[in-house]
Amino acid sequence: MKFLFLIVFIYLLPQCTGKPLIRDDCHQHTFEEIKREIAGYSDIAKAIINLAVNGNAQNRSYERLANFVDTIGPRLSGSKNLEMAIKYMFRVLQEDGLENVHLEPVKVPHWERGEESAMMLAPRNHSIAILGLGSSVATPPEGITAEVLVVTSFDELHKRSQDAKGKIVVYNQPFVSYEETVKYRLLGAVEAGKVGAVASLIRSIASFSINSPHTGWQWYQSDVPKIPTACISVEDAEMMARMSSRGTRIVVTLKMGAKTYTDIVSFNTVAEIVGSKYPEQVVVVSGHLDSWDVGQGAMDDGGGAFISWEALSLIKDLGLRPKRTLRLVLWTAEEPGGVGAEQYYQLHKGNISNFDIVMESDSGTFMPMGLAFTGSDKARAILKEIMQLLQPINVTNIYENGGETDTDYWVRNGVPGASLRDDISKYFWFHHTQGDTMTVQDPSQMNLCAAVWTVVSYVIADIEEMLPR
Ligand SMILES: [Zn+2]
Repeated sequence: MKFLFLIVFIYLLPQCTGKPLIRDDCHQHTFEEIKREIAGYSDIAKAIINLAVNGNAQNRSYERLANFVDTIGPRLSGSKNLEMAIKYMFRVLQEDGLENVHLEPVKVPHWERGEESAMMLAPRNHSIAILGLGSSVATPPEGITAEVLVVTSFDELHKRSQDAKGKIVVYNQPFVSYEETVKYRLLGAVEAGKVGAVASLIRSIASFSINSPHTGWQWYQSDVPKIPTACISVEDAEMMARMSSRGTRIVVTLKMGAKTYTDIVSFNTVAEIVGSKYPEQVVVVSGHLDSWDVGQGAMDDGGGAFISWEALSLIKDLGLRPKRTLRLVLWTAEEPGGVGAEQYYQLHKGNISNFDIVMESDSGTFMPMGLAFTGSDKARAILKEIMQLLQPINVTNIYENGGETDTDYWVRNGVPGASLRDDISKYFWFHHTQGDTMTVQDPSQMNLCAAVWTVVSYVIADIEEMLPR
């Protein structure tokens, strides 16, 4: 019976099924028509904004996030906390009445920092604040005691490679931008290992510091000796640079109890509002659920995950159901390098032509400024019209580079990608530190971010045609 119904249903389907990819025999909407169609969403956009900013849903994403991070705490890949976080989200997404709430298993890294410390012994005793970098090996139990070589760049390290043997290399590279400077965290141990150093300490990748080390993942190379590596504060890196420029000999003992275990099963957490007309076509809104093992992971990426959940909640509260499926994905194991998202891509890439746009918020949920977008010029022109619907809160800008770590797998293969742009002037004050807590988040800014995220994802999911590639 069901089958017969399906045949009749297919027969009755119009020739245009919303797909932009094969359309020779279909009427393609002109840009003017699309523009008019989008302008028709202005009342819905206002309703979403009202509900999120002034209405019953005001501060909801903030309160949900506070409850979550206060209950679970930090959520490192492979940790018990991350497992608890996923169970928590699975329960609350069901309680929220969302559809197809499910978990998709993936294998993720399991690294633990253990006990760690660093002590300067010469020229004076001083306790150095450190955080081991993700995937670092341990030191022997008694630690590594060695003289320090301070450098400001890889170039300087290579020039002074004769001096590096047997030393602890301290990098005191200036912060230019995260993208530019993060290579010292990622490759500092490898470069130091190549020239015979016994450990590396890396100035935190941070635009501001109150003696706070900022951790993060780092990469070894199979043909280079693996040396222990940790980040130190900007203050200690600069002090050691000053000491060494005066010709002062610096000796440090580094102790790290880090351990890498075998990969462990974790889950991407998924929930949907199933599309009314093209349910097989998907708009993804996302953030990552894992975090570092310090602070609360409220900013990175609790905020992004919870405004993404909020988008589905707001749409449901307004009794809306878009033509396409709106899919919430809470990625696991982003911090070790988009590990959960990569496996999600491998599992679902066969269906890539049905992915309309992939959206991820993973650069803070501070005061929103607009949307970063990667896609064709035609798609960008459509997005520009959609952003006009956000005039009431004055967040209408479009920027370049809409891919984030987790969505880039799709974006690199031609799926339009968008990420939230917000005021990140304080983002790298707190990034990957003990300071990434709920205190950094602001409920009214999260309301605005949620409104932007919801209007954009809903309209893209509901307009007649998919975004042109
Ligand atoms: Zn993140």
